[in-house]
Amino acid sequence: MMKTSFINGVFQGQSGNVLRNINPSDTNDVIEEFARVGREEADLAISAAKASAVDWGQSNPQQRFDVLDFIGSEILSRKQELGELLSREEGKTLTEGVGEVTRAGYLFKFFAGEALRIPGQRLDSVRAGATVDITREPVGVIGIITPWNFPIAIPAWKIAPALCYGNSVVFKPAELVPSSAWALTEIISRSGLPDGVFNMLIGPGSEVGDAIIKNGSVDAISFTGSARTGASIAQQCAARMAKVQLEMGGKNPLIVLDDANLELAVDIAVQGSFYSTGQRCTASSRVIVTEGIYQDFAQLFAERTRALRVGHALDPKTQIGPVIDSKQLEQDLSYIRLGQDEGASLIAGGDLVNLKTPGYFLQPALFSDVDNSMRICQEEVFGPVVTLSRVTCYEAALAQAEDTQFGLSAGIVTSSLKHAEHYKRHASAGMVMVNMPTAGVDYHVPFGGTKASSFGPREQGSYAVDFYTKVKTAYQLPM
Ligand code: NAD
Repeated sequence: MMKTSFINGVFQGQSGNVLRNINPSDTNDVIEEFARVGREEADLAISAAKASAVDWGQSNPQQRFDVLDFIGSEILSRKQELGELLSREEGKTLTEGVGEVTRAGYLFKFFAGEALRIPGQRLDSVRAGATVDITREPVGVIGIITPWNFPIAIPAWKIAPALCYGNSVVFKPAELVPSSAWALTEIISRSGLPDGVFNMLIGPGSEVGDAIIKNGSVDAISFTGSARTGASIAQQCAARMAKVQLEMGGKNPLIVLDDANLELAVDIAVQGSFYSTGQRCTASSRVIVTEGIYQDFAQLFAERTRALRVGHALDPKTQIGPVIDSKQLEQDLSYIRLGQDEGASLIAGGDLVNLKTPGYFLQPALFSDVDNSMRICQEEVFGPVVTLSRVTCYEAALAQAEDTQFGLSAGIVTSSLKHAEHYKRHASAGMVMVNMPTAGVDYHVPFGGTKASSFGPREQGSYAVDFYTKVKTAYQLPM
């Protein structure tokens, strides 16, 4: 049966054509079919969200806790089934899929707790006898627009705080991964939320996304996706003075110093660079190595890259699942050709892999002999394509790591406390990892970047309150 959007408490909306959700590990496998909606349904959902916003904004913390705790508990109790669905539609391995679902469950649990401790302040006024209350209030209607690479975790880390702080939601998932979004919506539909507080729209970004951005009843937009879409959203939100939060691309450096443990450094590089098929905004895509350890590191990293087992996402032996679709695969291959044209040496991988099922399988690619000004070192590929460069010392590594328009995550592998501390202080990225992969973050602390990677207040942890609330200052003299 064809699945639909969720508008004003009802699964409905059939105006557009059919969206077929194709498994990237086996393109003969049509996972589910969905009825696309358009602008008209987007406007209906926004009206429903607006109509419900005042009452929901005044709901008590227990009600919000119960809703969010219900959603989190159900996600966690069904993590295997939902993880399998996620891996089937997105292509990350089953372990990664179940891991992502688990994280989504805990995100809802975390914000269930946050609903009980929404911060405020009472201060004495500087005027005699008066007091000042500083309170956090809901923003109103939040438009949530998400990418395909984390089909449940990214929606969770936006929807959970939006509801926690008393906002209504209009959520538009990426068209490549509607099944996880629908499954999450189905759980939310049974959580006890009043009709209209949560809406989900299946449709194209250029139509449904655009309608959400342009509608004056949407008070704030939280977007994760490409820098190009993000820039256009920022401009449109500025023009109508809507609040906006953007999480975009990365070109994350991983520095390996001479004093690093070689095995540990290679493990971190392989994990951070290629797991989840390199399709993580926080993936290490530039590995920068000092010359004393370079030769041994490069040899082992290349061996490990060649040995990575690429396969069907649901095959337990698979380490690297398929690329999401033919368009992304063509982008990865074009960057591999570009790297060769620019004069870099392809020292491992880069070939298509033929398996029993037709899918978008690519052996992760490793380039050496790169110059950081090359396009493969500066532009986000968003696939399993990584560059390796040799530098003389820590200072040169830091300078090269910083030579990028992005600033999401940055890593270093070292046994030197001095360099670790210096790097944490001087890397301009929003997240710094010492002796850990650049990708892989906790659910209870802030997430986000600097420069072209992020714009607006941080996501997640207790810092999410800044985006999902507005601040009121109330003065009072005694009666
Ligand atoms: P995308 O920008 O193509 O799409 C993201 C979302 O925006 C989708 O839901 C899409 O339908 C919608 N959209 C597209 N055009 C729109 C428009 N004109 N108006 C409104 N909405 C529109 O990005 P993608 O290809 O889905 O995702 C990959 C990108 O996401 C990469 O650049 C990656 O780095 C980034 N990403 C960033 C983070 C982060 O937290 N920094 C996390 C994951 C992914």
